[in-house]
Amino acid sequence: MHELSIAMSMVEMATEEAAQQGGAQVRALHLRLGKLSGVVKEALLFSWEIACEGTPLAGSQLVIEEVSVAVYCPVCRTERELASIQHFFCPVCQAATPEVVRGKELQVVALEITEDHQGVIL
Ligand SMILES: [Zn+2]
Repeated sequence: MHELSIAMSMVEMATEEAAQQGGAQVRALHLRLGKLSGVVKEALLFSWEIACEGTPLAGSQLVIEEVSVAVYCPVCRTERELASIQHFFCPVCQAATPEVVRGKELQVVALEITEDHQGVIL
């Protein structure tokens, strides 16, 4: 399962980070997930629990912020958000918009650790 290997590598990364913070307990990991990332949110949440089992991250939470898809419209010369990821057309002028500006993210943005009750921005 694609999502499981992603979850496992995130758990590994967070475990290392927590160890560097003097063995702090990770409470949550915040992730930005684009709708074009090819990763299914529900599957990733499910995989996270499996990946955390038996690690120092057991019981931690995966917080996913979904990122909608934005494209650059060459006609309007600006960014447009797409209502649907099936149709890559500008919602305003209907021009074809092959250039994706946002929406492919799979990015860890923060770790919440308990020791000092503050998040670490990576
Ligand atoms: Zn346009």
